[in-house]
Amino acid sequence: MSARTPLRLAGEAGFQSAIENLQSKILIDSFGRVHNNLRVSVTDRCNLRCTYCMPEDVTFRDRSELLTFEEIATFVRVAAALGVNKVRLTGGEPLMRKELHKLVRLLVAVPGITDVGLTTNGILLEEQAGALFDAGLRRLNVSLDALDPGRFRELTRRNGVEKVLAGLAAAKRAGFAPIKLNAVAIRGFAEHDVIPLARYCRDHGFELRFIEYMPIGAEAWERDKVFFAAEILDLIGREVGALVPANHDPSAPALDYAYRDGGGTVGVIASVSRPFCAQCNRIRLTADGKLRNCLFALDETDVRGLLRDSPVPESAVADALRRSVWAKREGHEINAATFVKPDRTMHAIGG
Ligand code: SAM
Ligand code: SF4
Repeated sequence: MSARTPLRLAGEAGFQSAIENLQSKILIDSFGRVHNNLRVSVTDRCNLRCTYCMPEDVTFRDRSELLTFEEIATFVRVAAALGVNKVRLTGGEPLMRKELHKLVRLLVAVPGITDVGLTTNGILLEEQAGALFDAGLRRLNVSLDALDPGRFRELTRRNGVEKVLAGLAAAKRAGFAPIKLNAVAIRGFAEHDVIPLARYCRDHGFELRFIEYMPIGAEAWERDKVFFAAEILDLIGREVGALVPANHDPSAPALDYAYRDGGGTVGVIASVSRPFCAQCNRIRLTADGKLRNCLFALDETDVRGLLRDSPVPESAVADALRRSVWAKREGHEINAATFVKPDRTMHAIGG
């Protein structure tokens, strides 16, 4: 089904009831996209202040506003009954949420959930990698934009690259494989870091992924600041090793490449130069219990109120999810003059 043509609700006999029948089993939007991938932010707090993500001075939400682990697990159970099978924990910095491994344990036990992942800046990973692995976490993405301590500080406004490197080593020892390393590609910065990061990942067996810089942070964004995926691949191909396209899942946002002589992969998430909205299968739950059907959504649906009712009206949570997914826009419009940046910055949504 094309994601270009909205499904029509009017004028076709039985169509409405066919859609309702589908919606009782799967999360489908009005463009026919089926959603099985949930990102859960567990906190808006962070121990870094990456310039592209959040402002230096920020007021974090009161902890009482954040969903508890039990509330998150209830939501995930409802979502899993509607076809969600992948969950990724994120933030803010998810490892700042105390005893995150306990949430992992709850989520891997939810019937239907086959894949629980985590995206972290790695600062607190050294001390938590073992407990997370033991709790059943298997997919791990660590964000690291620069290996040089000065450049790391410039981008994150904090020190700590050695902690991230120790966290990566601890994750490897704990048994995580593969480990993905994510870097944001900003023109004027990334040119200096692409090659050292590519060599480091090749040497250590990490899968490197570059994400094009998106207009979702606190700073003014211009298209000219995006270091494009094609340029990154060209640079790595020339300086580190020839790359060839690798098989990839068409619904995955990354385009993956492998070194022709073996020894690792490089992926690019070309959200700006090659948007993947037509294949998008993601929904998001913010740490304060708002549903977002797109990273760039301008509207949110509150589910915290429902999750704090006793007993939790699970059918109302499911309805909220169905309605939110159905209302998803066709695409993020980053490249259009009509683009409107959401009020929340990345750290408060969940990347
Ligand atoms: N704190 C964790 C981390 O940094 O991995 C998880 C949350 S962070 C918001 C998730 C991902 O979003 C990170 O990989 C980060 O690099 C990416 N990100 C943040 N702001 C971005 C932007 N403006 N453009 C592209 N990616 C961005
Ligand atoms: Fe924190 Fe991650 Fe945002 Fe950096 S990208 S400020 S580590 S939430």
